[in-house]
Amino acid sequence: MNSLDALRDLLGADAVLTGVAAEPYLLDQRKRYRGKALAVVQPASTEAVSALLQWCSRTRTPVVPQGGNTSLCGAATPDDSATAIVVSLARMNRVLEVDAGNNTITVEAGCTLADARAAAASAGRLLAAHWAVDSKVRIGGALGTNAGGLNVLHYGNTRELTLGLEAVLPDGRVLGALRGLRKDNSGYDLKQLFIGSEGTLGIITRAVFRLDTRPTAVTTALVPVIDAQGAIDLLRNLQTAAGDRITSFELISRRCWELIAEHCPELPAPFASLPEWCVLLELSDTGMAEALRERLTAALQSLGLGALARVAQTAEEGAAFWAWREAIPEAQKRRGVSIKHDIAVPISAIPAFLIEAEAALKALHADADIIAFGHVGDGNLHYNLFRDDVSDAAYAVEPAVNAAVYEVVARYHGTISAEHGIGQLKRELLPQFRSATEMDLMRAIKHGFDPLGIMNPGKIL
Ligand SMILES: Cc1cc2nc3c(=O)[nH]c(=O)nc-3n(C[C@H](O)[C@H](O)[C@H](O)COP(=O)(O)OP(=O)(O)OC[C@H]3O[C@@H](n4cnc5c(N)ncnc54)[C@H](O)[C@@H]3O)c2cc1C
Repeated sequence: MNSLDALRDLLGADAVLTGVAAEPYLLDQRKRYRGKALAVVQPASTEAVSALLQWCSRTRTPVVPQGGNTSLCGAATPDDSATAIVVSLARMNRVLEVDAGNNTITVEAGCTLADARAAAASAGRLLAAHWAVDSKVRIGGALGTNAGGLNVLHYGNTRELTLGLEAVLPDGRVLGALRGLRKDNSGYDLKQLFIGSEGTLGIITRAVFRLDTRPTAVTTALVPVIDAQGAIDLLRNLQTAAGDRITSFELISRRCWELIAEHCPELPAPFASLPEWCVLLELSDTGMAEALRERLTAALQSLGLGALARVAQTAEEGAAFWAWREAIPEAQKRRGVSIKHDIAVPISAIPAFLIEAEAALKALHADADIIAFGHVGDGNLHYNLFRDDVSDAAYAVEPAVNAAVYEVVARYHGTISAEHGIGQLKRELLPQFRSATEMDLMRAIKHGFDPLGIMNPGKIL
């Protein structure tokens, strides 16, 4: 029996996609990597995943787990050898349980983040994980990348929200750690190894997440600041004035507004005169919306920022503020090819990073068009460089550009991947930023879980 027939036999003919049907799964989000695969398969249960991985181990078939395929570093795209199978979890998409007493939700790994959030919301609770592409992202992908997002400052990364998971090891054994416990010190916490492992250790099939209290009041504001240091000062002062009510704190540079104006004209700018730097922030609590808005307005006035700030007066206005923030990736896409960085440094080092990285890039390319924005409340910036539109030649200068940016990152003891992961894009760079001991331990863990090396080859290590 040939491999495709064996897969059809194992999973059912409709679970095995080839040809045109497989194509969308073989091209990454940024269209940088186009892979080939033996097939794209869509198992419908943990038992089917287990049978599939036993077959893959026997036949030494490489396996590329895939969720929503929104990875920004090619982490879910196979190589071009056409030997791997892409395992899409799309058919394992159920919300299994919302346990109101335990304040948890249990979902299959192919459930979209949007569906999981909606299920929590309809039970009056909050699943906090949230970022621009919730309706595409699947739980396995969020876990596989330990994704961050728009409210990490208050709720933490996906890791902090995860209480338990179930995963299938490359040899088909099922790691059953689907426990909804907040305290469990019984030996090594193996689930943690899967979170952020980018599909290199096994396939996550289910997860239990902590739920949070759903805020009754949310207030959103756009606050122009004089520079990045002004943003950091605002964060500290607001933390004093509003405590842990700050749920989002995003920095947006003037170039971002210009880019939106150029490429997303359907969104007219919120300021007559564009600020050099601006913070998009959100406060949430369980009180009255009016009281929260007054608290924020008073705090901004006492900091001398009241006149320039725009505090949303309605939920619709708040949503419009977020639409600008979420338009930045789209505006960049329309602008053309860019060299992207997803860096983090200590929050206090953000102003120096911005000054020094810009100087380094301008020294390399006088025409460097730098787009800086992101989750500054977590010390995480998306720091991207355009040179001229429509040019894949931009990638030719990528190594030198990366070296310039990452030298500054290293000086401030930062990271080259704050939330997007390593994938295939940054694999070569990882050993420069993690010690030899860390790399040895990572390889040993990988070998312990996947001695045949079939899980997502060419990613991370
Ligand atoms: C416009 C835009 C905005 C974004 N904003 C953010 C943001 O704010 N914060 C952030 O962190 N990310 C962001 N991302 C990146 C991306 O959405 C996240 O990395 C997301 O977690 C990927 O989920 P996915 O389901 O698409 O996974 P995929 O891209 O399909 O896979 C990602 C990785 O997880 C692995 N994987 C997938 N499913 C499983 C599984 N069941 N078991 C084991 N491994 C698995 C894959 O092999 C791959 O290595 C953004 C992306 C876009 C396009």
